[in-house]
Amino acid sequence: MAVSNVRSRWYMQLHWRIAAAMLLGVIAGLVGGEPLADSVGWLGTLFIKLLKMIIVPLVLTSIVTGVASVGAGAGLGRLFGKTLGYYILTSFLAVMVGLLMVNTIQPGVGADLVSSETEEMPDLTVIQSPVDLILDIVPDNFFAAAADTEMLAIIFFSIVLGISISTLKQNHREPLLSFFESGFAAMMKLTGGIIHIFAPIGVFALIAKLMGTTGLGAFKALGLYALMLLCGLSLHLFITLPLVLRFLGGINPVTHFRNMVQPIVMAFSTSSSGATLPVTIETVENKVGVSNRVTSFVLPMGATVNMDGTALYECAGVLFIAQVMGVQLGFEQQLVVVFTALLASIGAAAVPSAGLVVIFIVLQAVNLTGPQVELIVGAMLAVDRPLDMFRTVVNVFSDSCGAAIIARSEGETGVDVEVRNAA
Ligand code: ASP
Repeated sequence: MAVSNVRSRWYMQLHWRIAAAMLLGVIAGLVGGEPLADSVGWLGTLFIKLLKMIIVPLVLTSIVTGVASVGAGAGLGRLFGKTLGYYILTSFLAVMVGLLMVNTIQPGVGADLVSSETEEMPDLTVIQSPVDLILDIVPDNFFAAAADTEMLAIIFFSIVLGISISTLKQNHREPLLSFFESGFAAMMKLTGGIIHIFAPIGVFALIAKLMGTTGLGAFKALGLYALMLLCGLSLHLFITLPLVLRFLGGINPVTHFRNMVQPIVMAFSTSSSGATLPVTIETVENKVGVSNRVTSFVLPMGATVNMDGTALYECAGVLFIAQVMGVQLGFEQQLVVVFTALLASIGAAAVPSAGLVVIFIVLQAVNLTGPQVELIVGAMLAVDRPLDMFRTVVNVFSDSCGAAIIARSEGETGVDVEVRNAA
């Protein structure tokens, strides 16, 4: 009795402890500055390492279990079709929001970025074309792909392994299936344990480090440009996706938001859909109430491929650069931006700053190249971190909406029927 009373107190609930940790991190970082950032930074790194440590075994066991239970027949094709359809629909809507924002607010007109502070681009691999993307999906060697966390290759191998297990004779299928099922259960337990023990400390450290090194200035720089992006991302997060949830899934968006608090906070503090993935899977299964059959399909692939926030950013960012340079992009060129922005968001890795790196694909497509463009992108990088935090939230939230909608369409009636956010 006493235990259940303590459990029900709001301040004991994990998501409130994480939210409080975030707030404390802001205050501690602002007050303690760089010395504090240096002393707590390692705790944030440790937290991200713990999350990354689980990604490969979690994704492998989750997908194999999910796909093997669906089998290779029409069920799998239908799930695949719905998943792709959802990714394309919401990423396209996001790009449209970006297009609308940049054309109405016009933040680049008259802005002088070339003389502002710039930063070096991080060294991330960029997928250049659809053919590259296809070739990247198939690994030369599964273990090498796993060692490098090449998500698309891991997903592909796990899907085909799941299919092949489902076609085995029972005496071979059963032991393999229970091996992967038990492995998946163990990974989920591990994820839950890491979140419970480490999330508040990790979030505190990540936010304190960010605030201690860049301060609130990071949120003010680039003025109108950052504001336009934040408005666009908020519009997609609070209007477009809730409408899609309501009309495609018949789901109450408020319930979904409340169930999703933990992955939202995690995406915000890590700026990485990849590092957030274990938390997303755990939450969408245990709180939103989606089956492993659907999450294993929609979430790992979504973390890599479905990036609404990044798609919006690619489109708005490129049109912003064109405005700064005084280049008028006609209807056809804007159309090229729309489609390459979609492609670039698919190619972007689920790690911090990936969105800014792939912007060169879109810039190239409309011939915006040269030293001046590089300078502007460098200036954008200087203020990218806070924007990255918001677009990662949108990326992760869209994946969770997809999982909930597809689960409902597959007849799962327990999805988002109540708020299950207690610790
Ligand atoms: N950081 C984002 C993510 O991991 C990608 C981006 O930079 O847009 O989802």
